[in-house]
Amino acid sequence: MISSAEGGTPAGAGPTDTDWAAALAAVRGLPTDARVLLICHVNPDGDALGSMLGFGLGLRRRGVRHLQATFPGPPQVPEPFRWLPGLDLLVPQDDAYPEPDLVICFDAASESRLGDLADRLDKAGTVLVLDHHASNTGFGDIHLVDPHAAATSVVAEGLLDRLGVPLDAEIATCLYVALSTDTGSFRFEATTPEVHRMAARLLATGIRPGDISRRIFDTRPFGAVRLFGEVLGRARLEPAAAAGRGLVWTYATHDDLARYDQPAYVLEALIDSVRCTAEADVSCVVKQVAPAEWAVSLRSKGAVDVSRVAIALGGGGHRFAAGFTGRGTVDEVMDRIRAELTA
Ligand code: 5GP
Ligand code: MN
Repeated sequence: MISSAEGGTPAGAGPTDTDWAAALAAVRGLPTDARVLLICHVNPDGDALGSMLGFGLGLRRRGVRHLQATFPGPPQVPEPFRWLPGLDLLVPQDDAYPEPDLVICFDAASESRLGDLADRLDKAGTVLVLDHHASNTGFGDIHLVDPHAAATSVVAEGLLDRLGVPLDAEIATCLYVALSTDTGSFRFEATTPEVHRMAARLLATGIRPGDISRRIFDTRPFGAVRLFGEVLGRARLEPAAAAGRGLVWTYATHDDLARYDQPAYVLEALIDSVRCTAEADVSCVVKQVAPAEWAVSLRSKGAVDVSRVAIALGGGGHRFAAGFTGRGTVDEVMDRIRAELTA
């Protein structure tokens, strides 16, 4: 890996012309037999998978033959995304090229989000990073990190466009899933005119937004509906927390999943029900990943910067949507969050 420290652009500014030129050169300069490995973050969401697979399909159209996509951890794609175009690019992490010529990372703010695949960064010829987290650490060689972009897929579309790869329905489907996931179906503050212009370009390929939204947002097994009932039933409202702005939270364990025979991914949608609470600015869902390990999702309606809380507790994310891995019991994890919210 080429040294990344010197001369890097601060993430706040977004990519410069030099960054775009370096990214174009890295892709255009690939020899025909080059091995290209695409990696997105652990526990991939719609933006991670959608930007990676959409860009991967674009590279395939450009004739890149040795091309793999992967993510750390168990190789199962969450059910809502199991129909995405480009899934055939995916390989389990252990099968990923050990020494790729080019690694491209998607939606990962830090190396830690790449889990066991972080070792590929040291072994790669070049590491290109596509991301939109303000908290991006600047890892890798070439940085297309735009904190003003609503999704990593905005950056991916920008690079495909500069490479001269036309959008087709398959690429557009992946990028649309990514864009609609990270904008909360075009509801969040990040939904700028440029977001809608990009959505228009994607829809112009003929993709069907109703079908896509139903599949990724509005479909879940009946067991998950009932599991949500139980987990939401134990939600707690703490009006005095976060200096009086209010905190609402709940948690879900492996036992809960087992009782309703549900996979862990169904819990990703829980935060959207919890954060509806009118009386709280901050919402939180604590999801068990191991006996004393919890994936924590934090959201804010705007009064609290939850990325500060997440970063202080070892994670990252955006001002109004962030997360971290908590250790110990649920009560211990919640105590640390309450303490950070008053800090
Ligand atoms: P979610 O709650 O949907 O899992 O994540 C919300 C945001 O926080 C996403 O932008 C995600 O990248 C970030 N995030 C979630 N968990 C972690 C974590 O453990 N570490 C870091 N660095 N970011 C996280
Ligand atoms: Mn994202």
